[in-house]
Amino acid sequence: MAPPIDPKTIPAIDPKVPPELPTPEPESPVRSRKPYRFSTLCATVENPDQKDQYGSSSVPIYQSATFKGVGNAYDYSRSGNPTRSHLEHHIAKISSATHALTVSSGMAALDIILRILKPGDEVIAGDDLYGGTNRLLTYIKSHGGVVVHHVDTTTPASVLPFIHPTKTAMVLLESPTNPLLKIVDIAAISKDVKERAPDAIVVVDNTMMSPYLQRPLEHGADIVYDSATKYLSGHHDLMAGVITCNRDDLKQQMAFTINSVGNALAPNDCFLLLRGTKTLALRLDRQQATSQLVATYLHGLGFTTHYPGLPNHPGREIHERIASGNGAVLSFETGDKEMSERIVGAARLWGISVSFGCVNSLISMPCVMSHASIDPATRAARGLPEDLIRLCVGIEDPADLIDDLEQALIDAGAIAFNVQQNKYIRVLPSTNEELNRAVQKLGLGEPDDQEWFVSAPGKVILFGEHAVVHGVTALAASVDLRCYGLATPRNDGKISVHFADIDNFYREWDINTLPWDAVTPIAVGQEHPDVLDQVLIDTIVAGPLQGFDEIPKAKTAALAFLYMYLLLNHSKRPSFNFSARGTLPVGAGLGSSASFSTCAATALLLVSRAISLPPPPQPTTTDPAATVPHVHVSHGGRRFIPPTVAERVNKWAFISEKVLHGNPSGIDNSVAVFGGALAYARAGFGFGGKAGMHPVQGFKSLRFLLTNSKVPRDTKKLVAGVGALKASEPELVDGILKAIQSISEEARRALADPELSREQLLCALSALIRENHEHLVTLGVSHPSLETIRATTAAAPYGLSTKLTGAGGGGCAVTLVPDDFQTEALDKLIAELVQESFVPYLTSVGGSGLGILSPYTPPNLVQQSHAVVAPGQVTPPETPGLAPHPGAGDPLLRLAFEKQSMSDLAQWADGLGRWLYV
Ligand code: PLP
Repeated sequence: MAPPIDPKTIPAIDPKVPPELPTPEPESPVRSRKPYRFSTLCATVENPDQKDQYGSSSVPIYQSATFKGVGNAYDYSRSGNPTRSHLEHHIAKISSATHALTVSSGMAALDIILRILKPGDEVIAGDDLYGGTNRLLTYIKSHGGVVVHHVDTTTPASVLPFIHPTKTAMVLLESPTNPLLKIVDIAAISKDVKERAPDAIVVVDNTMMSPYLQRPLEHGADIVYDSATKYLSGHHDLMAGVITCNRDDLKQQMAFTINSVGNALAPNDCFLLLRGTKTLALRLDRQQATSQLVATYLHGLGFTTHYPGLPNHPGREIHERIASGNGAVLSFETGDKEMSERIVGAARLWGISVSFGCVNSLISMPCVMSHASIDPATRAARGLPEDLIRLCVGIEDPADLIDDLEQALIDAGAIAFNVQQNKYIRVLPSTNEELNRAVQKLGLGEPDDQEWFVSAPGKVILFGEHAVVHGVTALAASVDLRCYGLATPRNDGKISVHFADIDNFYREWDINTLPWDAVTPIAVGQEHPDVLDQVLIDTIVAGPLQGFDEIPKAKTAALAFLYMYLLLNHSKRPSFNFSARGTLPVGAGLGSSASFSTCAATALLLVSRAISLPPPPQPTTTDPAATVPHVHVSHGGRRFIPPTVAERVNKWAFISEKVLHGNPSGIDNSVAVFGGALAYARAGFGFGGKAGMHPVQGFKSLRFLLTNSKVPRDTKKLVAGVGALKASEPELVDGILKAIQSISEEARRALADPELSREQLLCALSALIRENHEHLVTLGVSHPSLETIRATTAAAPYGLSTKLTGAGGGGCAVTLVPDDFQTEALDKLIAELVQESFVPYLTSVGGSGLGILSPYTPPNLVQQSHAVVAPGQVTPPETPGLAPHPGAGDPLLRLAFEKQSMSDLAQWADGLGRWLYV
């Protein structure tokens, strides 16, 4: 075995003669000398002078601070370590450099290089450098007596006046720059510097390119450094910096500093970096190809896009001369900082993170993230747009990346589908209102004139109420009694709410007088925190909602609305009216508040453009004469709202629920958004003891008679009563809880069982309903009124199964109605219940969740539906201030909505057009 080589004895190479890339074998008369290509060099980690005694395929980690003996190659890891020597040999090889040094970060590398300077030295540096580089330069300027000139290095001529034959000690360049991708002619500037200040050192930060795409030593640079945290390692699992050079003296000087300060790369990180470099070329090939696609896509949409691969990119020819690829960082401008923030926040696959070079794609806003350390005035002076979005492309499937970016652009309102052009087009930011309106008119109508009509169902708990508090799985399903919400634009700078069914509550506020100062805007990419902003809530209650204590339901509904409005619209502040009505009895345990929360959240998210609908399917006509193409929605209106939109709505509906109830389980709003049925357990018996919410697969829509006993309930007292019983009679209650858990499980199984006939299913559910109710009676949560309903429905000739639903003690009972149950019998039963002063509703359970009236409906259909309220027939509402505002959307729709009788509301809403559902 060859003895390990002392790194200090590596022969010096004349810097003027560029080193040749290593060759596969020594020259031989029969085999010509052919240098390996780059990816081969990357993958082949071999150091002939450091053979492993066991022939290990991967370089061992010498996790040792010290080495025994005297005068050997290694004694102390701060000065040298075999794993590090391997890495440095490898880096030098792929960088076509004589020497490589590796340190703990990219900034550590720059620090080592800057320590070559002495007080009085002058540095010429670019004006679009990485923020951290600026910070360190500012530090040495103020603490090291070094003069730093920031110059636009994209024009070599602007560097010339600053080159001083003796004072200029260093020229620091970056190309392409980050994040504007400006190109610097490293070769031309190096030549100019060498001619005018022969002792000056040209240093290049090559992080954006890596040695694969650009090797500045070959273009006259003296020292090159990389943040190996980026492409060289490639996985964002370590911090490292590498320095390469050909000059012995510089290497000796920097190695001395590294040894003195002790920031050489640690053995474990050396190992990881070595492993990362093996795939450098492979990763970058993929990343670059995708970057080109993404840049072309954004450029095609009309965004100002910065990427050297675009034909019009300034300095493209220079870049092609000194580099062999365009890299995987690009940036684009939207023209509106808030819009950029929304885009960054809406992206899912693109992670919000500083840094780049990872196999995962990243999105960021340099001015608020990586370049935030540069003060705003300097950023502005250097032409760094505040709205700039930087994309760092990873190795994911390019189609997924573009899909995700497109969805984020849609969600942020940066692009919208244009029906006539049948493609997405850019929505210009508000700075160019008029043009924007013109563009919008071609497509979906003016954004601010868009009226949104939404609806969401209530819920019934089929099995497991009360027991759910103790960890038992509960089954809840949507009930086809719905809340409806209508957002109608206003143009008078006011925001208003109207809850016609809750004391005809109407209130309007001047948007400017709302407590905007109390709002802590949600940061880019962040969600609303788990905990509500109590200060904001208190401020709303003490300000815009002061008073109204006698109508607490309307007051809390308005509070939830205003809370979301303030948080979602900090920048946009749209003026509109939100009217909500419902066919659900309020306070009967049927989830009326969650369906309101869902409607309010959806309307607010739509108006604030925090969510948007996907484009309609292709028009079925290609007739260019057709001004409004007929849009065929092939799925019958169902399942049109994408899951991402539904999830966003659900998060905000949950926030509204928290405002309304303090500590809701989240099941009501989830049912209101997703529809169907859900199984839910707090940590306890269900789902193997874990808390969670799961859709009940295969749930078949069922007919239920819901009967409101009209007896008010005190949920807290009822829940506390069960708790007290559990404490006093634990065995009894635990037994009941176990029994209810098995009822829930049995019901889930039956509902999902494809083998079970409809008749068998209804029979099984009937038995489970009876059983569950008996347990609830034992728990003490029934009520004489509920028992009367139960007895009435169970009596001959009906023989139906009924159970209380929700907290009990009043509220509603649910009665399963078999498919073959005679209509006359049902009518008779309903009449009997009405006679007993109850309010029965025949409804289906397990149907659609959130619905949005299609904005793609041909206008004539909307006109027809409005015909039900011909202007002459509309009686103005009694509530003052409700007269329609000029230009406020379609006032007829709002008036009709507010005047519909409760019993006609659902049918009227259905007739308005096509509803799109989750
Ligand atoms: N140079 C450039 C161009 C960078 O982007 C970075 C980090 O983002 C650095 C240097 C500093 O590298 P490190 O974070 O590894 O210290």
